[in-house]
Amino acid sequence: MDITICHLYPDFMNLYGDRGNIIALQRRASWHGLHPRVVPISVGEEYDLRSCDIIFMGGGQDREQRAIARDFDDRYRVMNEAVQDRVAVLAICGAYQLLGRYYRTAAGEKLNGLGLLDSWTDAGAPRLVGNVVVESRLDGTRRTLVGFENHGGRTYLGPAAAPLGRVLAGHGNNGVDGQEGAVQGTIIGTYLHGALLPKNPWLADYLLGQALIRRGARHQLGALDDTLEVSAHQAAIRRARG
Ligand code: GLN
Repeated sequence: MDITICHLYPDFMNLYGDRGNIIALQRRASWHGLHPRVVPISVGEEYDLRSCDIIFMGGGQDREQRAIARDFDDRYRVMNEAVQDRVAVLAICGAYQLLGRYYRTAAGEKLNGLGLLDSWTDAGAPRLVGNVVVESRLDGTRRTLVGFENHGGRTYLGPAAAPLGRVLAGHGNNGVDGQEGAVQGTIIGTYLHGALLPKNPWLADYLLGQALIRRGARHQLGALDDTLEVSAHQAAIRRARG
């Protein structure tokens, strides 16, 4: 079965190994017996995002975010249609901020977001930097997520968005409320770079599983040998907890 992974803005939004998420999705999809195809889509390129199974966007600094915010003005309709059609979305850091209502930059400029997440972000100081461990129950089981954060933005969630998880180590959305990331419908936003998915294989499989459910596919995701991934995950937890 073919799986289409759309990589939005690979040339603008790619920090701290975010592209590793695409590689992890691709590799795990193949190991699960699926046939992944990655479609890069950059600023100004039209694409019907409903034909994607998974949409991924990495992080970017304020300058890149400005370019993306302009492109989002034209892309709102297709992104909204894709989300209504339950396409799975994973957005990291700068992209996560722009899926919300707005991001106010360090220079005070307000960049409009897509508003597909009930969230908003204001730049603040100091930057929130370091290793992160999060407890998440996204797939119904208590799990941990590990990653690396580096953001000035403080993100707050409205009632329509749920946090991706609870911060066990690190700062998370704003360093104050103990929340990390956001989940709303099929959208997942998070501050975790790292890359995220290679060190948190359960989340990669969750996204692939969501894609299969949407297609009504009978294909089952079996267990893979995650010895290396689990050892990277445990090492990251030890490092974050110092
Ligand atoms: N520019 C944003 C911030 O600092 C996003 C940074 C990022 O994507 N790492 O909050």
